[in-house]
Amino acid sequence: MSPTVHALDRARASHTENQKPARSEVEAAVRTMIRWTGDNPERDGLSETPARVTRAFEEFFAGYGQDPADILEKTFEEIEGYDEMIVLRGIRFESHCEHHLAPITGKAWVAYVPSGRVVGISKLARVVDAYAKRLQIQEKMTAQIANTINDALKPQGVGVILKATHHCMTTRGVHKPDTDLVTSRMLGCFRDNPLTRQEFLSVLD
Ligand SMILES: [Zn+2]
Repeated sequence: MSPTVHALDRARASHTENQKPARSEVEAAVRTMIRWTGDNPERDGLSETPARVTRAFEEFFAGYGQDPADILEKTFEEIEGYDEMIVLRGIRFESHCEHHLAPITGKAWVAYVPSGRVVGISKLARVVDAYAKRLQIQEKMTAQIANTINDALKPQGVGVILKATHHCMTTRGVHKPDTDLVTSRMLGCFRDNPLTRQEFLSVLD
């Protein structure tokens, strides 16, 4: 990335920071949405709801406060030449679709073949969460996880598969409750070597 683009990114980030609304504004917006449903935000059962929803948003979207590259900063090199596949299977995640703010719930399978260094395995799950706790589309999230691991560890290859249910299509819209969406991103030897890809696919639940 060129220095100019970095500067632009920083400018955009600080712009966003300055624009961050006050908690009271968010609570007011939730009250407006409750009124839009036809209910009364002042009634007993709903009076604390705007504050609760605002706190829930902080949790749902905590990923904006995390830098996934930082999570992978510490690596280990004393691995006795280990150069086989490492797979963390079935990492449960919760996200929200950027089109409807509806939940996306699913699992991720994250694999890589190291090239001289590895990362603590819990860090792979934390990278998944850092991207999940944002407004997302599943395709982008899949690519972001794979690209971040690839950039940080410079491994021989990375494979990421996400399988998730999108509440915007199970509980509204086309109402197809039994569907899930599977996306994958294969880099390096996972993309180039059919045997590596097959080995990864064979360990999926
Ligand atoms: Zn959606």
